[in-house]
This record gives sequence, C-alpha cells and structure tokens, in this order.
Amino acid sequence: PLVLGIETSCDETGIGIVRGHELLANTIASSMDEHARFGGVVPEVASRAHLEAMTPTVEAALATAGLRFSDIDAIAVTAGPGLAGALLVGVAAAKSYALGLGVPLYGVNHLAAHVAVDQLEHGPLPKPCIALLVSGGHSSLLLVPDVAEDVISLGSTVDDAAGEAFDKVARVLGLPFPGGPHIDRAARDGSGAAIAFPRGKLDDGTLDFSFSGLKTAVARWVEAREASGQSIHVPDVAASFQEAVVDVLTRKAIQACRKYDVHDLLIGGGVAANSRLRALAQERCDAAGVRLRVPRPGLCTDNGAMVAALGSDLVAAGVTPSTLEIPADSSLPITTVHV
Ligand code: ATP
Ligand code: MG
Ligand code: FE
Repeated sequence: PLVLGIETSCDETGIGIVRGHELLANTIASSMDEHARFGGVVPEVASRAHLEAMTPTVEAALATAGLRFSDIDAIAVTAGPGLAGALLVGVAAAKSYALGLGVPLYGVNHLAAHVAVDQLEHGPLPKPCIALLVSGGHSSLLLVPDVAEDVISLGSTVDDAAGEAFDKVARVLGLPFPGGPHIDRAARDGSGAAIAFPRGKLDDGTLDFSFSGLKTAVARWVEAREASGQSIHVPDVAASFQEAVVDVLTRKAIQACRKYDVHDLLIGGGVAANSRLRALAQERCDAAGVRLRVPRPGLCTDNGAMVAALGSDLVAAGVTPSTLEIPADSSLPITTVHV
C-alpha cells in the first residue's frame, strides 16, 4: 500500500510517500530561516509556516513520486510529541486528506517514527533491537520488540536532551542555531582530547543520561578563559564537548545491548546525523559484536518519510486506524507508538 506521511512537530513541514519500505518521496519545507535569529523555534511562527507550506509540499511530494491523490491508500501523521500548535496543523490536514480521499488515518508517535525510518534504507528492523534516540527534545535508550506495537523505555535524560546540549553549547561558542551541525563541522579541526569535560552519569549503573552539567562546564570554561584574556580555540572546545556527549551515548548504548542480550543497535533522531557519534558507535559496536544501523543524515533529522515508514508498518501489522477525533498530543509518551 501507498502511505503518505505528514510531519509538523517542529519547524519542518515534511511530506513522505512510501510503498511498503520503498521510499518514493521525501519533501521538506523548513521555517528555520525565520527562527534562526531568535536562537530557537518560535511556536506561532512555525504553526503559520506549516499552514502555508502544507498544500504545496504535499503537491510537490506527489509530483516527485509521480502519483496522484487517488493513488494514496493511507495517511499517517505525527500526533505527538512536539509543539502543540504545529502538531495541530498536521493533524488537521491529515484528517482532511483521509476524509476527502476515503482512506484510513494513522496518528503516530514522532519518536517511534525516528526509529522506524531506518527500514527505508536498511530493511526490516531486527526484533528486538535496542534504539538510541537522540534528538532536539529527547535522549532515550529503548528496547524495541516491534516498532509498530511495542516500545519500552530503558532510560532517558534527566535534564537536557543531547541535541539541546549541542544547541546551547553552540550558542556559548557563538555558532548559529541550530548548533549541532556547526559543532560537528567545527570539531573536525579540533581535538576531542584537548579539554577533559565531565561525562554525566557515566558509570552510575543506570541507562539514564545527563547533559546539563556538561553544558555548564563548557560555559564556565569559556567564561574563565575570556575573563583572563586568553583566546579560545573553538574547534578544540567543540570537539571536546562533542567527545564527552558521544562517549556517554555510545557506552550506555552498548551497556543496554549487553544487559538485554540484544545484538542490534539502531541510532535515530537529529543527533544521529553527528559524524563523530556515527564513527565512535561503529568502532564500539564492532568491538562488542553488535550490529549497528544508522539512517543516512537526511533521514535522521525531522522528515515526512519517517512518519510514512511507521504508518506503513501499522498498515502491515493490521493495526486499527485512528479515528477522526484523535487529538494532537504535545507530550505523547514514547511508549505510545500510535493513537
Ligand atoms: P524531537 O525529535 O525530540 O521532537 P526535534 O524533532 O526538534 O526533537 P530533530 O529534528 O530530531 O529534533 O533533531 C534536531 C536536533 O539535532 C537539533 O538539536 C540539532 O542541533 C541536532 N543535530 C542535527 N544535526 C546534528 C549533527 N550533525 N551533530 C549534532 N547534532 C545535530
Ligand atoms: Mg528541525
Ligand atoms: Fe525529531
């Protein structure tokens, strides 16, 4: 079946079209240019941008796939978590398309979709697998018996998300928002061993994370340097901060695999685009005998294909479609795969 996926949880209006796990279109309109100067996404601006971008982006995706509306068999939409007003635009559009086309509607969890998307590139997910979900708003380790039905949380951040830490440290270093990609790039000219930043909760026996102490340590280090008139080598700070984040993420991900005796690790979410995380995860998985799957960077950050991918799994699993009454739920828990 052909599934059209709609993603509007943050600043991207993403429309994806899949047939099973075959990706036919993945069209994205972003309002990031309008938010960048505020140093964060402005919810009202994002909602209005989704409203304006929805119809043209859907039409562009259909054109890319060489399809018409009448070819679509099901609509999937991000029902949460995310910005309430932004989600509402996508959910309302999805209901309209489903009703107008007379096809089933599937309200899906954005975070589970970050996991499901990998199947478009690497085929069906092993059951079970461990997923490390690292994004702008979340950092979690998940046991995934079946992404269409059952996602179990093993641990999560107790304060900032990994992506949030990247964005906040970028600001301290005078890099543009969102900072993750800029830190990634700057770090290539620096040394991850230059500065010993703290690794929060590294050996505390849990699968939880903490990044706010690290963020504060970087800010203090920069302030102290500036106060004493010393210069700051941005690439070294970026690389050392990044190393602290990915060191903890990869160690705990391997610990989760060991603890649950699972030999397949998937990394998803915007931070999974990070080149050092990808490299270190590969190294440590090889050493631990764990198979690693990470989608290409364009599928890690928010997009519509991930929503279509999960919708496609729900159709295949014979899950009962959502009603036209489903709400947008800004705090939908990770364990609720579909609504
Ligand atoms: P959530 O998925 O939790 O709702 P979100 O959808 O806003 O949050 P994503 O789009 O999944 O987040 O990820 C965006 C985050 O990923 C930002 O914090 C951004 O800085 C970070 N990011 C993107 N590319 C990279 C990179 N190369 N290195 C590190 N971080 C990155
Ligand atoms: Mg975004
Ligand atoms: Fe996301």
